[in-house]
Amino acid sequence: MNTPIIISNTKSYIKTLKDFYTLQNDIWRNLEKENYKYHVAVPYTHISLIEKEEYKAFTVGAQNFTAIDEAGKTGDITLLNILDAGASFVILGHSEVRSLGETSELVSAKVSEALTANVTTILCVGETERVISGEKYDTSYIDELLKVLKESLKGVNKNNLDKLIVAYEPIWAIGVSSGASTEVVMQAVILIRRELAKIFGIDGAKKIKIIYGGSVDEDNAKNYLTESTCDGVLIGRASMNAKSFSKIINNLYK
Ligand code: PGA
Repeated sequence: MNTPIIISNTKSYIKTLKDFYTLQNDIWRNLEKENYKYHVAVPYTHISLIEKEEYKAFTVGAQNFTAIDEAGKTGDITLLNILDAGASFVILGHSEVRSLGETSELVSAKVSEALTANVTTILCVGETERVISGEKYDTSYIDELLKVLKESLKGVNKNNLDKLIVAYEPIWAIGVSSGASTEVVMQAVILIRRELAKIFGIDGAKKIKIIYGGSVDEDNAKNYLTESTCDGVLIGRASMNAKSFSKIINNLYK
């Protein structure tokens, strides 16, 4: 079995470092084996403060960086800033960031910058909605999904593709009562793999991992790996609950 990729996106749920430690200690206590590992994307201000040497169960990453590295942007956080603070990965193109105006053009520039620096990059892509027409989904969502994927990877070269993880995150399935079905995710994974092969060639595409995010919980997490052929999961809300998240980790490793 390949090691499952398990990423907690803490968004802005966690207010203080103390709360962060309380949650991670509870998760860690419930892990069945010491070698179970996960990754946590935290707010910028927490990156340098977390005692990474003490907490071997997880690595710490950023939820974004806000500018490509150039001087003189008030309030922005650059890739070098997050790396200097100790981030070992970054999430880019999350729909909650895109909804504030981030374009795929900017996302692709940031993906290029992160991969060039050999930083593990989680690129989020997904369609806004799926409309049922008759018995089936109207297929226009496919165009939207592939357009976001292509545009977010425009100009990205083939170097360090083993550091790229594409997260299929359908916007309609984020933060709702139940995640996308395993069939929907499997189909999206196939479409994404095929498009990646067109962009980077088959050998390049093989290096890229694909994960799923959107209302993953302890009941559905494993199915996305076994039935939808994902390499892992990106989890928001359920990773804020130590019992649920540790159960997810324990299950995914079995
Ligand atoms: P969710 O969030 O698990 O709360 O749906 C996932 C995400 O937005 O990355």
